[in-house]
Amino acid sequence: MRAGFPDFRLGTVLATSFTATLTERQGNPVERIPTPQRLVDWLAVNGLAVDSCTDAQLDLARELRESIHLAATAAAIQDALPASAVQVINDRSTEGRAAAILTPEGERRWRLGSGSRVEDALGVIAADAVSIIAGERDGRLALCASPTCRAAFFDTSQSRTRKWCDMNTCGNRQKKARFNARQREHPESAE
Ligand SMILES: [Zn+2]
Repeated sequence: MRAGFPDFRLGTVLATSFTATLTERQGNPVERIPTPQRLVDWLAVNGLAVDSCTDAQLDLARELRESIHLAATAAAIQDALPASAVQVINDRSTEGRAAAILTPEGERRWRLGSGSRVEDALGVIAADAVSIIAGERDGRLALCASPTCRAAFFDTSQSRTRKWCDMNTCGNRQKKARFNARQREHPESAE
């Protein structure tokens, strides 16, 4: 981890882990890939190591991120998908030249094109977004219950009743807020 930068919120779904590089969208937003190097770091953690990243490529990544966020949010509330967001997702998916590689151990790895371009990595993320927004994967798109977050996340729980994008942050904060509210209303029940 690099000192001075907000850490990453890593989930099990690539596309929504990527949109979680900007958190608290409805509150005080926290940018978790503030520099090209931080995007390089994030990609490496997610199995999409690239050699380098320019400012323009970081802009491209953020444009894709916000497009996925908009499209996934619309899908979660069963609204029409915003055409411009769909266009960006499709452009990034089309331009990427990554290949899925099977390792001898039977694991899937991504092989990016020559020079390990950021565009190839973004293509993988865009394709992942397509698969969850299109409803091809086992799970349900939902919006985080935290009013300062409202992130779109992919619920793969058995009951499909997950409320928060992240249990350790949004989930905990909501629980604490409810606990504090109860304490104010019934101080005599304080432990
Ligand atoms: Zn959240």
